[in-house]
Amino acid sequence: MTGIAAFWQNYIDGAFVDGGAGRIAVENPGTGEVLCEHALADAADVGRAVAAARTCVQSAVLVDMRPIDRGRLVQDMGRWLAARSEEIAHVLCLEQGKPLWEAKAEVAGACRYFEYYGSQASTVEGRSIPLGKGYFDFTHLEPYGVSAQIIPWNFPLEVAARSIAAGLATGNACVVKTSEMTPCSSRYFALAAEAVGLPGGALQVFTGLGAEAGAALAGHADVNQIVFTGSVATGQAIAAAAARTVVPCVLELGGKSAAIVHSDADLASFETDVRKGIYVNAGQICSALSRVVAHESVHDELVDRISGLAKSLSVGPGIERPEFGANMGPMISARQRDRAVAMVSRAEADGARVITGGHKANLPGFFLEPTVLADVTPEMTIAQEEVFGPVVSVLKFADEAEAIRIANGTAYGLVAGVFTRDLDRATRAARGLRAGQIFVNEWFAGGVETPFGGYGKSGYGREKGREALMNYVQTKNVAIRLGSG
Ligand code: NAD
Repeated sequence: MTGIAAFWQNYIDGAFVDGGAGRIAVENPGTGEVLCEHALADAADVGRAVAAARTCVQSAVLVDMRPIDRGRLVQDMGRWLAARSEEIAHVLCLEQGKPLWEAKAEVAGACRYFEYYGSQASTVEGRSIPLGKGYFDFTHLEPYGVSAQIIPWNFPLEVAARSIAAGLATGNACVVKTSEMTPCSSRYFALAAEAVGLPGGALQVFTGLGAEAGAALAGHADVNQIVFTGSVATGQAIAAAAARTVVPCVLELGGKSAAIVHSDADLASFETDVRKGIYVNAGQICSALSRVVAHESVHDELVDRISGLAKSLSVGPGIERPEFGANMGPMISARQRDRAVAMVSRAEADGARVITGGHKANLPGFFLEPTVLADVTPEMTIAQEEVFGPVVSVLKFADEAEAIRIANGTAYGLVAGVFTRDLDRATRAARGLRAGQIFVNEWFAGGVETPFGGYGKSGYGREKGREALMNYVQTKNVAIRLGSG
């Protein structure tokens, strides 16, 4: 299995269709070559997708279903995808660039969302509120209706899976716009929906340009709820559109997350955290470990360890040359890679020291060398802005308060970590850090079950976990005046 289909279509109203805006060439970031073409939706296609979802909502077929049965369909979708994980991972690897082993892990993660949210469909319950004699009162959690989901390119399957699974489990019809850079692997969601017998119109999956199809979806008057993951600027545009149509939205907008490493931390095991935290997916992770805030007593040793790790990683297109070991893949595009290179140059000009990396790799795809910067100070742009690439900055601290101040000193607040054997110190940090998830002694500890989302410019609302189910339902209160019997 090496190539993939030459042309891929959108899935709207139960049919695979061409796009009103023509086609887009999808590049393989590992080679820089055109991989295939994908249909590109225009605003009229978006209108048809929303109308199909609305028809599904009006038919009440999803809400009338017993939730345990609706949840079973969602779980079946996950099982269908899992049975094809090799094929799906292959497509994901080619269009997104991540090594095959990472792509397989992403498919497994996507399947887990269907398992997790499918199993909870029947647990979305209201409550009874006592009003004294003469009344009986209860709340009922109802789906919003049409859920618009705008997906980025860094984890196209996992990010889409978490909103599709939670949206469907709670009885919404989902309209999913994938990233124009990674549209192909999401076709399998549509195939899964057909295979398990999801009602027509319950799921639409298409790609289109952000400014055209994305904006048309975010601003559509018949959308009831929006979920977005991506950049701050696009999140602001989507929130503004949602404000105009008065619908709620959830924004997950990335970060500049810090790991505080104390003098008593297990430095050998922390290397594994850096490996996962900044070099998986070539650092294109919203919750990337992009800043190491190191105690002065372990700073130099940490810089040596991290740069040793970075130098040990082989970089290459994992699928064509599995003998590489495929340690780290390319970035998504030449534009993103060149932006990261420019940010490293700027950091150097600001006084940071490039310990290793910082250049394009000498390969045809969009590769950046695994990069480590030391002598970074909190006010530098590199310490404030998201690179979204395999670039880690090491900063130094003298005491606990300073460490927390540095970690909290950006406009973001998605995740943060503290590494220490001292439970009191870890707990104090967990209280003081301003972020939606705190990791103690393991970066990315948690999973589909743990609520995830930002403070500050990292966005609002929560994805993952039980909290996320509440994005997709609204509360109706029913108050009954009882007659005297
Ligand atoms: P983006 O936010 O522009 O794109 C994400 C999604 O939004 C895509 O599906 C895109 O088509 C859509 N979109 C774009 N403009 C839109 C609009 N006006 N209305 C509605 N939808 C729109 O991200 P990008 O340009 O691909 O990447 C730029 C930066 O964003 C990256 O460098 C990185 O910092 C950040 N990013 C963050 C995440 C994350 O997980 N938080 C993911 C991707 C990108």
